[in-house]
Amino acid sequence: MKLTYLGTAAAEGFPAIFCNCKYCTEARRLGGKNIRTRSQALINDDLLLDLPADTYSHFLSNGIEGHKIKYLLVTHSHSDHFYPAELEMRHNGFAHNMDTNQLKLFCGKGAFTAFESLKRENWNIGSNLLKPFETVSFGNYTVTALPARHFIGDEPLIYLIESEKTLLYAHDTGYFLDEVFDFLKEKSVKLDFISLDCTCVDIPTKDESSHMGIDNIERVVKKLTEIEVITNNTIKVLNHFSHNANPLHHVLEQRVSSMGYIVSYDGFSIEI
Ligand SMILES: [Zn+2]
Ligand SMILES: [Zn+2]
Ligand SMILES: [Zn+2]
Repeated sequence: MKLTYLGTAAAEGFPAIFCNCKYCTEARRLGGKNIRTRSQALINDDLLLDLPADTYSHFLSNGIEGHKIKYLLVTHSHSDHFYPAELEMRHNGFAHNMDTNQLKLFCGKGAFTAFESLKRENWNIGSNLLKPFETVSFGNYTVTALPARHFIGDEPLIYLIESEKTLLYAHDTGYFLDEVFDFLKEKSVKLDFISLDCTCVDIPTKDESSHMGIDNIERVVKKLTEIEVITNNTIKVLNHFSHNANPLHHVLEQRVSSMGYIVSYDGFSIEI
């Protein structure tokens, strides 16, 4: 099972689109892994996680043929995760040989409402509203939507994805909700892979914050280890970085590699 990070920044990108701070200036100078676009990932070749406005450039720079993607999971309706107007490009005439069965969208309330307000029948998309703790199966995947601590009222979701391996894709969220820990424990979930929200890096975060830094990531990992959801074999990746937290790639690697975390970057692909 393969996961590819297509975009690894928070909403503003890194360097941030209109920013002149010292971190963004240095990222522009260094380039390479310091250039982070908006949040998106691809599992194997057919399951896309989120649809930011950077999707088109992600497809070009990673050689992705969009017509091959069968499933789209959207975490929430913030624009760095969901830019539904792009789906108009599935319209007859913009995309040939499409049918509704070729792309199935799954998302929570906020993203579903945003999509439904825009969609036209000729976009050729099957849309599915997911409730927290709902499980759906499609293709080779079984996916459970879990509630995120983020964007109150939107019903944001993080996703437990089970196929040959078991993954938790946790973007965006603050410190996990108690019911998420309880669910994972009750289901005796054993994660092969977890992708954790590291928006704030070393900027302190609180229990009620809508993103995490290393402080709350360490608490989440400790708790998941105690309830045996995370084991010594779980691959732990940090992702979704804000320019405010200096996410230069070498700085992040120096900070966390001895702690057992991998730092994501745009185009990073990992076999799980
Ligand atoms: Zn985000
Ligand atoms: Zn900046
Ligand atoms: Zn968000």
